Amino acid sequence: MKFVDLHIHTTYSDGVLSPEEVVETAVRAGLSAIAITDHDITDGIERAVMVGSKYGLEIIPGIELSCVHKGKEIHMLGFYINWENSWFQGKLKVFQQARVRRAHQIINRLKKLGIELDEEALFSQAGEGAIGRTHFARALLSSGAVENMQAAFDKFLVKGKPAFVEKFRITPEEGISMIQRAGGIPVIAHPVYGGGQKSFLKRMKSKGLSGIEVYHPSHTASQSRRFLETASELNLLVTGGSDFHGGPTETAPIGSIEVDYAAVEALKKEKLGRERKNRRIME
Ligand code: AMP
Ligand code: MN
Ligand code: MN
Ligand code: MN
Repeated sequence: MKFVDLHIHTTYSDGVLSPEEVVETAVRAGLSAIAITDHDITDGIERAVMVGSKYGLEIIPGIELSCVHKGKEIHMLGFYINWENSWFQGKLKVFQQARVRRAHQIINRLKKLGIELDEEALFSQAGEGAIGRTHFARALLSSGAVENMQAAFDKFLVKGKPAFVEKFRITPEEGISMIQRAGGIPVIAHPVYGGGQKSFLKRMKSKGLSGIEVYHPSHTASQSRRFLETASELNLLVTGGSDFHGGPTETAPIGSIEVDYAAVEALKKEKLGRERKNRRIME
């Protein structure tokens, strides 16, 4: 059996391992393929592909976009995106700039609460990548303001709490179309966190959604079974992954969620099918 992990973050967003370290960890775990799915950024892909080819590990270029539907966050994964597409990169730039503005707003909110973070350390931890709430949670933890990462989210960073600031908003439909325009396959991420209702998935399928992330560390076995049934009923592809971040947020190590290589074959088939269809439209 060949296994894959189709949801992994690197230091380019809120993961703690570099693309090279992610690849080496996946090789050690005996995986055949992994997808790099950073939030709003694709800059880690090239490095992963380079080192992946050295080890014979297949790298699927991916992304994770945050969308908002009726006030609730829904994440959209995109697989096999043509990450060098300049239109796509232009869009991502807007998201990343908005993340920096939001980081300054969060810093100010925390200041008003009497919490002074080491801004330099915060931004340097985020590096050139997409800065987000996980970076703040780590900074709050190391400053001693909270006892653990979960408390940082629960007390300060989730909606309704004093340091919460909205991100740049796009709708799930916009997320789907953005991924498709870059040649990617849109798949709804961890549907238990939002977007898992059958009627919603059906509507998204009519807008171009291709699959559901059925296997995720936050899903119980019965939830995964239910999403598997929904996927088969709605004729949607099935993916899964560890959503690996590493560090204090670590829930599941790379490769800990068992996903068969067949998921990758199905994504490739979908990508080819879409390319053929687009060619027919152009001809
Ligand atoms: P952002 O994209 O900056 O809004 O940050 C969202 C990220 O924070 C998610 O991708 C998770 O990695 C993490 N996150 C969000 N909510 C929680 C939570 N309640 N507990 C732990 N991590 C969370
Ligand atoms: Mn994250
Ligand atoms: Mn997510
Ligand atoms: Mn993720």
